[in-house]
Amino acid sequence: MEDRESRFKRLCVFCGSSPGKKASYQEAAVQLGNELVERRIDLVYGGGSVGLMGLVSQAVHDGGRHVIGVIPKTLMPREITGESVGEVRAVSDMHQRKAEMARQADAFIALPGGYGTLEELLEVITWAQLGIHQKPVGLLNVDGYYNSLLSFIDKAVDEGFISPSARRIIISAPTAKELVRSLEEYVPEHDEAASKLIWEVDQLSYVAEAGVATL
Ligand code: AMP
Repeated sequence: MEDRESRFKRLCVFCGSSPGKKASYQEAAVQLGNELVERRIDLVYGGGSVGLMGLVSQAVHDGGRHVIGVIPKTLMPREITGESVGEVRAVSDMHQRKAEMARQADAFIALPGGYGTLEELLEVITWAQLGIHQKPVGLLNVDGYYNSLLSFIDKAVDEGFISPSARRIIISAPTAKELVRSLEEYVPEHDEAASKLIWEVDQLSYVAEAGVATL
């Protein structure tokens, strides 16, 4: 049992709205939830009870930690997302949802998932690359699910499209315990050009609320 208090107060989890075919994906979602509970970390996620989203949020809620689900109004009908545990925050659209999840979190973790998960993960990586936030980004590479994505990203480094320092934004590990420990130790690096771009994620919410930009 880990008794050290985490440097993170709340973590954002991106994950599949499907459970995936292997039991290991579902087990990893529950293990991640339990790890947050052990380390006394709260959760923010996309809301609802479908797929891995439901498993991780239920585990955190059952362990007595605070859970925030951020759901766009259009996804709120129960037949789409299922019942949420904990606090539900309604937002107007997907952009606002991502900005709100990012604003509430001290770090991000992606479990296995599909397009939605990849999109959310790549967006917070891009924001880190631009210096919009300095929060750690972790990939829970359950059973090698993300090996081919990581190989592709390494190819992009080799081909000169991603810098080696931007490659280091992604912290990956096969288990929740190892991943949370690595995220705790993460020290952000930004080159000088990027550090000039440091914006508050608050500003992103403002922009999303104003509806003046697609982020
Ligand atoms: P995917 O990886 O395509 O299953 O999408 C998962 C991500 O997209 C989650 O982190 C959610 O933010 C969002 N998402 C997709 N489908 C749903 C749904 N039915 N209910 C709530 N959020 C969803």
